[in-house]
Amino acid sequence: MQCAIVLEFDDGDGTVAKRVEAMRFHRVDRSQASGDVGLSLGEGKSLVNCVQQEFVVEQLDRYCASQRTCEVCGALRRVHDGHCSELKTTLGKVFYCSVAGTR
Ligand SMILES: [Zn+2]
Repeated sequence: MQCAIVLEFDDGDGTVAKRVEAMRFHRVDRSQASGDVGLSLGEGKSLVNCVQQEFVVEQLDRYCASQRTCEVCGALRRVHDGHCSELKTTLGKVFYCSVAGTR
């Protein structure tokens, strides 16, 4: 059995704008011991970390995109900072890499 955890981001209208597979779990049906059901604690923590990572990246992508256009003249501002950043969140560290020229 496989189980894919997929995140769908929309613009508030229900139309999917971005779809990301956060994690995929595999189980060999006959290999589990009695009582061994569901996700392990480690898998649960990894899942939360993956969701937080993708969620933060999507939020920052949207925020940065909303700030690129000059409100006065409409020109697209240049991206000056192309390095990766580490953010500490309530659910652990996440990483964000802005790539100059693509946003
Ligand atoms: Zn301007």
